[in-house]
Amino acid sequence: MQPITPINYRLHIEPDLANFRFTGKCEFLFDAPKAVAEVALNILDITIRRCRLRQSDNCAECTFKENSENEELVVFLPAPMAGKIKLEIEYQGLINDEMAGFYRSSYTHNGIAKHIAVTQFEESDARRAFPCIDHPARKAAFDIIMDIDKDLTAISNGAIKQEEILGSGKKRVTFEQTPKMSTYLVFFGVGEFEFTQDEKDSRVRVVTLPGMKKFARFGAAFGRDSLAFSESYYAIDYPLPKMDLIAIPDFAFGAMENWGAITFRENLLLHYPQMTSKSGEERICEVIAHEIAHQWFGNLVTPSDWRYLWLNESFATYFGFGVVDHYYPQWETWQKFLLNQTGSSLVRDALHETFAIEIPGGEHVVINASTAPIIYSKGGSILRQIEGYIGDDNFQKGLQHYLKTYEYGCASSHHLWEAFETVSHLPVSAMMKSWIEQPGFPMIRVERQGHRLKLTQQRFTYLPNQSDQKWIVPVTLSLWAESGATRKLNVLLDEVEQTIEIDEDIVAYKVNDRQTGFYRVQYNDPGNIDELGRRVRQKALPPEDRWGLQNDMYALVKSGEATLDEYLEFLTYYDREDAYLPLASIAENLYAAYLVMDADRRQKIASLAAARFESLLAQIGYAPSSGEAHPMSMLRDQLLWDAALYGSEPALNFARSQFTVLMNGDAIHPDIIKSVMQAGALAGDDRVFDWFERRLRDSQIEHERMNILTAIGCFKDEGLIKRTQQYVLDTVPARNKFVPVVALAANPHALALMWDWYVANLDRIEQFHPLLYERVLAAIVPVAGIRRADEVTAFFGDYLKRTDKARDVIKLSLERLEINLRMRI
Ligand SMILES: [Zn+2]
Repeated sequence: MQPITPINYRLHIEPDLANFRFTGKCEFLFDAPKAVAEVALNILDITIRRCRLRQSDNCAECTFKENSENEELVVFLPAPMAGKIKLEIEYQGLINDEMAGFYRSSYTHNGIAKHIAVTQFEESDARRAFPCIDHPARKAAFDIIMDIDKDLTAISNGAIKQEEILGSGKKRVTFEQTPKMSTYLVFFGVGEFEFTQDEKDSRVRVVTLPGMKKFARFGAAFGRDSLAFSESYYAIDYPLPKMDLIAIPDFAFGAMENWGAITFRENLLLHYPQMTSKSGEERICEVIAHEIAHQWFGNLVTPSDWRYLWLNESFATYFGFGVVDHYYPQWETWQKFLLNQTGSSLVRDALHETFAIEIPGGEHVVINASTAPIIYSKGGSILRQIEGYIGDDNFQKGLQHYLKTYEYGCASSHHLWEAFETVSHLPVSAMMKSWIEQPGFPMIRVERQGHRLKLTQQRFTYLPNQSDQKWIVPVTLSLWAESGATRKLNVLLDEVEQTIEIDEDIVAYKVNDRQTGFYRVQYNDPGNIDELGRRVRQKALPPEDRWGLQNDMYALVKSGEATLDEYLEFLTYYDREDAYLPLASIAENLYAAYLVMDADRRQKIASLAAARFESLLAQIGYAPSSGEAHPMSMLRDQLLWDAALYGSEPALNFARSQFTVLMNGDAIHPDIIKSVMQAGALAGDDRVFDWFERRLRDSQIEHERMNILTAIGCFKDEGLIKRTQQYVLDTVPARNKFVPVVALAANPHALALMWDWYVANLDRIEQFHPLLYERVLAAIVPVAGIRRADEVTAFFGDYLKRTDKARDVIKLSLERLEINLRMRI
């Protein structure tokens, strides 16, 4: 690392929206404790015009060298010097269309195509917009100035300090200086922005494009709630005078936590009455809470290196759900956390192709389809496990201590668990290290020997492993006595094998009470499995445990330690199940098995599932009813589509009649639009495709566009599947190209057509945004490769010889393919 300390960047940006270019001037002030002769800054895709050294009133020209390989600009000072040094760098760049750096996003208003220009810098794209030391730990204060057309509006991290009219129809907007912060959190943007200020907290504003203000109110209100929760829970005030939540049409990620200027995909911020489903509404709240948590975790206290990125994302994920649960406990959001975060990361992390939450590799860590489930979802789940171990109160105090100690600075993993240890006086460090610094997680096998339980831990992977890894596991147990009484027991499993005493009268035991632990459980005790099954049927176990039991068993089906028939047999205990979490998970597991199995077993799953889902739909009602609980409306949307796909006549009839209403131009309930559109496509013809296409073109509502893009991946007809594939390449905007592809890869009628499409159009598909290209690969390879595994494997063997592109995602997708192939045996 260079022995200099950044102090301040003064950025003067002049965007030219007509020609998609900008000119910039960056005044970089830094401190050199020892004399330096040259300074290296990061740059990418910008052209340097001039570098000068500023000394009071004098300027001295500096020579410089650009090294595109290292993404570096080296500026040579006229002579070695120490102390405070200011460089002035003049440069030019393009306002690109790659959703990274300083980029353009398009929209139409009153039929006219228009553009805004905004920034997206995490992890390493600030260097595309200004020369900088582009590392999270190299914090500085930023002064941002923009010269823009006088009819437009500029936004940055700080509030506007001054606006002055220039000649030539321009104005100069100067923003307040930011707190000391990392380069990846800088934001500036220009466009026809409009503001909706929250009614109760004037700091919170939702920023929209013309015509969208009417969708802003909901997000503003939850932004205010999230801010209030955070300030109170962390006991540190939000340091900026304003918090803008900005809806951006073209956006590769879901949202980005730029300090004071948070950017979102439109459908994750704007709430469209009569169109946003309950599930969409919940997701909006979760994403807003996630980004606002980042204002503390990431912005105030920053990882000292990208390898500690989990310190940002795990907390933001955890509080994304925690804040929603605080304001809307009736939504049962923690159950969705188990399903979508803990459940999906247990699946992701059971591959050989995985890595520790604290990712080795520092500089090159990126958020993608390979890393996100680990650093977001597994990390968030481990925090829930730790909170269970040290208690809510210590968890909160530990976080307050951690944030206060490192505010405006940087932290590493150990700083966090030292804070937990300080407040709890529990041996947290060793436990956290075992979960954060090594890949994978354990399977805990339980065996009863009289009044003892023998617990053994071993790393769990779907494919065999020889690992001798060990974790410090806070194991929780529920025990049932003969009399019907229940007892709880907590033990710390820190050896490979451990025996615990239980009372003689215990007739059943469940390990991982309420599924707070990040591990799987296997009972080598058929009697106990039946006892637990009976308690599932009686609902003597909470929904979390009913979820965990069948879900752990399904993991054993994937690892070859149980058969699909055994799993289906165990599901008979769920014949009276009515809770969202276990049912949604069962539906998901059955569908995953259906996609990979041969025709006979597919038929078995389809007839079993169709019958069960029909009776559930009859019970909760095919049509949404007013005032029903969130989880039920989400379950219906899932079951309706699954049942239709399995060939259920009642489900298809209902969906068809609703789809006719839609095609006639009338509205249906927002909570079933998605499944009705999917089922409409399944049975649809060219006329239906035309209708989707027209509606997509006319819609200004991103939530609706996402539903349509999912639906066009659900056609049964081969000609229409091919039409969708071509439509993705030619027409779907870059940000959303992955949406129909993911739907096609989950469509049993399209699977066989996906691999050839990928290979034939490789040149174009590879040009997708890297994050979205990886999502496409992760969706297609594990299932579309099933009947042509040798061909697929050989293809990527060659592919990885010539490029590193998507390497991690390709490797994990091939492993998933292998697991799917084994399941078919
Ligand atoms: Zn995040």
